[in-house]
Amino acid sequence: MGAEVTLCDMRAMVLQAARTPLREAELPDPEPEAGQVLLDVHACAVCRTDLHIVDGELDRPKLPLVPGHQIVGRVVAGGERFSAGDRVGVPWLGWTDGECRYCRSGRENLCDHARFTGYDIDGGYAERTVADERFCFPIPDGYPDLQAGPLLCAGLIGYRALQMAGDAERLGLYGFGAAAHIITQVALHEGRRVFAFTRAEDSESQAFARELGAEWAGDAMGPAPEELDAAIIFAPVGALVPAALRVTAKGGSVVCAGIHMSDIPSFPYELLWGERVLRSVANLTRDDGERFMRLAPEVPVRTQVEAFPLERANEALEHLRSGRIRGAAAIIPGQSSNGGSQ
Ligand SMILES: [Zn+2]
Ligand SMILES: [Zn+2]
Repeated sequence: MGAEVTLCDMRAMVLQAARTPLREAELPDPEPEAGQVLLDVHACAVCRTDLHIVDGELDRPKLPLVPGHQIVGRVVAGGERFSAGDRVGVPWLGWTDGECRYCRSGRENLCDHARFTGYDIDGGYAERTVADERFCFPIPDGYPDLQAGPLLCAGLIGYRALQMAGDAERLGLYGFGAAAHIITQVALHEGRRVFAFTRAEDSESQAFARELGAEWAGDAMGPAPEELDAAIIFAPVGALVPAALRVTAKGGSVVCAGIHMSDIPSFPYELLWGERVLRSVANLTRDDGERFMRLAPEVPVRTQVEAFPLERANEALEHLRSGRIRGAAAIIPGQSSNGGSQ
């Protein structure tokens, strides 16, 4: 458990095959290659994408795989950009080729050969991990490890989606989980009005949204109190696309922010007519991350995070699946079920 760089084992939660629970395993400590840092993982927030990987909806993970791509850790060794002891965050975008037409045009989020943390590369459901230091971010001071975790995907991909919403004043957020609870705070800081759309019966999420400053919260399939200038869909439910278009004003955008969504039902062209825009948001660029990490403490974004010890990662995923997480969940490798700290 020490910080020395010696060959020893670390505990990790490992996906062996889709649609099976993660299994606790002892793995050799990862060894940093040139340009990589070795990190002690202090927290790794859980993302809905982790669920899509475990459930086989994203179907080409490396296997076996250590999931997790919202990693807050301390540098133990390696790299040049950071020093031992620095606190850094590791996001979903883990590596790009730097030379494809997307990378060369400032769109590395679309890189043809991108590799993603906790999908193509082992991630943070482990005591230690390695990461390409060029894709790590410094974590803003003032955020405890646990609270910083969700900034790294929910926060910064949510922020990218918010920018795609343009200067919309009346913003609808569909699905009120980790990303929406962060983006509500950013949107209000920018002077927007927030409307939260959830399942009709999910009064808990609706109350949470109102607590965070949403001026209305209610049924995603019902009428909206007024037209929206833009909507961001965080929930992986295709039926929300026509529902959101239906309540979006002419010229407004509907942004799909998740990596996976059930099929979108057909809908009359009239819902798109009037220069409405329907688009997705994919991944992140390092520029998104750097800008969001500067913005978060200015807002200031405060995250609500429920901590789970490493060996209870399956439980964290199950709670996320069943909508029992208020805000975000995170894995704390340094904490064990039989009484740890943090
Ligand atoms: Zn994510
Ligand atoms: Zn590329």
